[in-house]
Amino acid sequence: MSPALKIASVLLDEGIDRPLDYAVPLAFRSTCAVGVRVLVPVRGHPKHGTIIELKREAEVASVQNIIELLSEKPLLSDSLFALAKWISFYYCTPLRKVVQVMLPSGLRKNIQKRKQLFVRSKLSRPELLHLCQELRIKKPEQALVLDQLLLHPKGLLLSALIEKAQTSESPIKTLIKNNILHTEEMAQEASPIDEQEVFSTKPKTLRDEQKRALTKITASLEEGVFATHLLHGVTGSGKTEVYLQAINSTLKAGKNVIFLVPEIILTSQTLERLRSRFPEKIVLLHHRLSDGERHESWHEIRNGNVRIVMGARSAIFSPTPKLGLIILDEEHESSYKQQDDQPTYHARDVALMRAKLENAVVILGSATPSLESRYNADQKKFQLSSLHRRGNADLAQVKVVDMRLEFEKTKGFTLFSDALLDAIKKRRSLGEQTILLLNRRGYQTSCLCTKCGETVRCPHCDLALTYHLGEEILTCHLCDFRLLKLRSCPKCHADETLKYKGAGTEMVERALHAILPEIRTLRLDADTTRHKGSHELIFRQFRSAKADLLIGTQMVAKGLHFPAVTLVGILSADGALNIPDFRAGEKAFQLLTQAAGRAGRAELAGEVIIQTHMPEHTMLQLAAAQDYEAFFHQELEVRKLFSFPPFCRLAKVVFSGEKLKNVEETGKRFRMKLIQELPPSFQILPLVPCGHPKVRDKFRFQFLIKGARSTLLSQKLALVQQMLPAKRDVRTLVDVDPESTFF
Ligand code: ADP
Ligand code: ZN
Repeated sequence: MSPALKIASVLLDEGIDRPLDYAVPLAFRSTCAVGVRVLVPVRGHPKHGTIIELKREAEVASVQNIIELLSEKPLLSDSLFALAKWISFYYCTPLRKVVQVMLPSGLRKNIQKRKQLFVRSKLSRPELLHLCQELRIKKPEQALVLDQLLLHPKGLLLSALIEKAQTSESPIKTLIKNNILHTEEMAQEASPIDEQEVFSTKPKTLRDEQKRALTKITASLEEGVFATHLLHGVTGSGKTEVYLQAINSTLKAGKNVIFLVPEIILTSQTLERLRSRFPEKIVLLHHRLSDGERHESWHEIRNGNVRIVMGARSAIFSPTPKLGLIILDEEHESSYKQQDDQPTYHARDVALMRAKLENAVVILGSATPSLESRYNADQKKFQLSSLHRRGNADLAQVKVVDMRLEFEKTKGFTLFSDALLDAIKKRRSLGEQTILLLNRRGYQTSCLCTKCGETVRCPHCDLALTYHLGEEILTCHLCDFRLLKLRSCPKCHADETLKYKGAGTEMVERALHAILPEIRTLRLDADTTRHKGSHELIFRQFRSAKADLLIGTQMVAKGLHFPAVTLVGILSADGALNIPDFRAGEKAFQLLTQAAGRAGRAELAGEVIIQTHMPEHTMLQLAAAQDYEAFFHQELEVRKLFSFPPFCRLAKVVFSGEKLKNVEETGKRFRMKLIQELPPSFQILPLVPCGHPKVRDKFRFQFLIKGARSTLLSQKLALVQQMLPAKRDVRTLVDVDPESTFF
């Protein structure tokens, strides 16, 4: 550093939000740099922090000295630091919070790898369930811990428990002290970088379309300047092959790659292909890594020992040096957006900004690109390449079945139309496979008292409880509250008056067995995939023909390759079509198209049957025709008409807290201040309860802001946030570019 820069501006890990100035002692002058971790005195106590700026003069007259440097090299490179600043500004989030998201927690706490503790419950399951309910209100943190132990009866690693329960160590310590939980020490963990033996594969000779796409991408790579490529192609059209060859060029040029996927559980096939092509070091960052493992991967990546990092959205922050290429597979997926915590970043937009700062190339791939990305391609901000399906596998035949007519035929409720049942039977007799999609898990989706008319709801969320037959419990799908199956109405206490309604995946499976007793089924939903490896197991069983039919929630619609599947049944498209949200049409189109894409992927022709009460719904028609271009133009018109993104910038501010009145008042005050600050060209919608007005005992309100695409909105939102000091009992969450305006 320049000798004139004697003052360091330090951002503390905890406590005071704004940066504080410290003097850099002579001994540290040569090594001090932005991003270096330091120990500094705060009111006589040493505290951890990060240097965010070096300057000539302090803002205050007298400054204290930095006590110690905790890292030799800066933890964040200049460009990652610049990225952090942009995120902090754009998503109206204190820089400290952004830095926290960027750095693994183990690193921040300076912990080294240590022995892991394994936590188990000492109580029986019913005792645990009972205690959990008792603690729910008074000690909610402890209840969250017990929830996780109810879900994982065999116990969990301490680090996993903390992460899953989203708490600190303290409620767990209390539970251990109270003799409810106990711990055991586990041996050291294996290295996160597993050098598995894999068979190597060779690049395929590209088809013309693939070649054209790759030529454009490699041109950008060779130029070494920021560029974004949108690769639009149905599943199986050869996108991954293009990614692999683009990665090859990048590695050969001595640069590194970040490969983002929407969900880690769906990566095994892609990861295998990467490993088979590139013997270089690949690291998979997944949420099941412990602090120690994460810490170690982080250093391996930062030191340049890793050539390819694969992971979900937060992998965009990996400290990869010499970044050449960022790939976002299935770029339209909502999981790329962090929605419930600040910064509410979208990994796609962060990727674009990072690539811009580091002169890297971005490839966005999807069978159903997000409207924004496709629009950016139209605007020539992105370069578009389209891949069509191979000649020998045609698009599946899609049939829409009007369930109103089916109900008339059967004089009542039915899950399966005749057409769907016949098609399932036919597949079975041919030895081909079927996938059924229903986006609701559980057995029955509500429970109602026929005497008082009351629906049994979650006491903490006001949501109807879902009945799960397997565990004989009623659960809340928002907070996981659990009740043993009820015999009498909790409201009027009448006996035998409860009636269960609405079908979930569990019921579909059972109903199907009642009709076709010999059919072999597998079920894939959040209930059957709670344990590590259970997804992979179910996929493997299905792929090796251990079942005729796979039934599941939207998980079954995503990017999987099952060559023997020739029928996809969507039991009800209505739920997806009915959500009052500006993105509902897009999401429904994507879900239906992706689900349809599962049928007939190999040499066998596919069929898709969509059941609905709204056969005339446009999105359904467009999805049935699998006509992305028509969908794009139609949806774009709608967005234009009602002024939604990409025709404006949208932001949402959500307020939540236990006292309804305080939440509403805080929301109103925030909104009024914002009205004063923003020019009238911004439209500020009224404060309304959120789509889920109460979650985990917290009332929720929100309002939307629409305006021009400028930086003014972020600036003013941050300003108002500062003007209204946070109240302890009301949480304010600013969500710039929200994925949903409903939830
Ligand atoms: P997507 O990522 O779009 O789903 P993939 O790249 O996985 O598509 O391609 C689907 C299948 O076709 C894979 O088995 C892949 O190996 C194969 N494939 C892709 N491109 C070619 C090619 N040019 N020649 C031969 N096979 C190919
Ligand atoms: Zn609940």
